[in-house]
Amino acid sequence: MAFPDIVPQLKAQMPELRGRLLANQPLSTVSWFRTGGPAQAFFMPADEADLSYFLKNLPADIPLTVIGASSNLIIRDGGVPGVVVRLGRGFNEVKIEDGYKVRAGTAMLDVMVARAAQPAGVAGLAFLSGIPGSIGGALRMNGGAYGGETKDILIEARGADRAGNVRTYTNADMGYSYRHSSVADDVIFTEALFQGREGDPEAIAAEMAEIKRKREASQPRTKTCGSTFKNPPGQKAWQLIDAAGCRGLTVGGAQVSDLHCNFLLNLGDATAKDIETLGETVRERVKANSGVELEWEIKRIGVPA
Ligand SMILES: Cc1cc2nc3c(=O)[nH]c(=O)nc-3n(C[C@H](O)[C@H](O)[C@H](O)COP(=O)(O)OP(=O)(O)OC[C@H]3O[C@@H](n4cnc5c(N)ncnc54)[C@H](O)[C@@H]3O)c2cc1C
Repeated sequence: MAFPDIVPQLKAQMPELRGRLLANQPLSTVSWFRTGGPAQAFFMPADEADLSYFLKNLPADIPLTVIGASSNLIIRDGGVPGVVVRLGRGFNEVKIEDGYKVRAGTAMLDVMVARAAQPAGVAGLAFLSGIPGSIGGALRMNGGAYGGETKDILIEARGADRAGNVRTYTNADMGYSYRHSSVADDVIFTEALFQGREGDPEAIAAEMAEIKRKREASQPRTKTCGSTFKNPPGQKAWQLIDAAGCRGLTVGGAQVSDLHCNFLLNLGDATAKDIETLGETVRERVKANSGVELEWEIKRIGVPA
């Protein structure tokens, strides 16, 4: 399927745009689930000023969605109407600063930031090596693993709002809770400043190796988006899913992982609808079995086919 092409109209309204703006760009290639339809318009800004210019000139009635590495997204089969923004070059610098601080562009993968901090002897960021997304996704999701969470290390983030105004968000402004930030959904984060602490490079490397070992032993890594549902307070989502008899359950080409039953897998030819239907089936069964309503951790964007 294809959306009407809005790119010529947008380009005419933004003569000074420097980034790449493409019509009907497939998103299944970027999605970790390898499913989903196209972006009506796909924008990769050249830098923060270009992003701000784009947002200032984007008509208010055109929907706006930002994606990172798509490791926490079901992109629906009908694609995403409006503009999908993805940050790339221009947002992927990482710098170690005085006082064990790390400044990172939001297109940087979490693991690359952890890898930059390690030889510099900056401890406290190793947990990022276990999260396969980008810094933008970590800021939005309050990504966390193995005892660390983004909120524990964030000093401040920069972000552009829907009107193109760029400002700094302090840690408190981010309104963090478990896998959630209360900053408006249409704010696009461009940079993060993290506070680490003094550490021994070898000890940090050993910590990262241990995280890698544990993840490889316990998690599937392909065509999945990791944990599907948030852990309800005091409970583990995977245990509730297991108790409801959902381990290995399939819908079309989608399956509840046998290895880690809070993970959904695309076995090869799943549609986004298969994956979302499987997730909703799991929610229903868990509700019937334990009375608990699981909340999606994975974000769903776009429209059905
Ligand atoms: C195998 C596997 C294991 C995982 N393990 C973990 C884990 O241990 N802990 C954990 O927390 N997560 C885990 N995840 C989920 C995922 O990696 C995280 O949620 C990650 O932070 C998402 O980052 P992303 O760049 O892929 O974001 P996306 O999936 O692209 O987007 C997720 C959300 O972030 C928003 N977003 C992305 N970039 C920006 C930006 N620049 N500005 C504003 N909003 C933005 C999107 O709009 C969307 O709402 C795992 C995923 C996989 C596939």
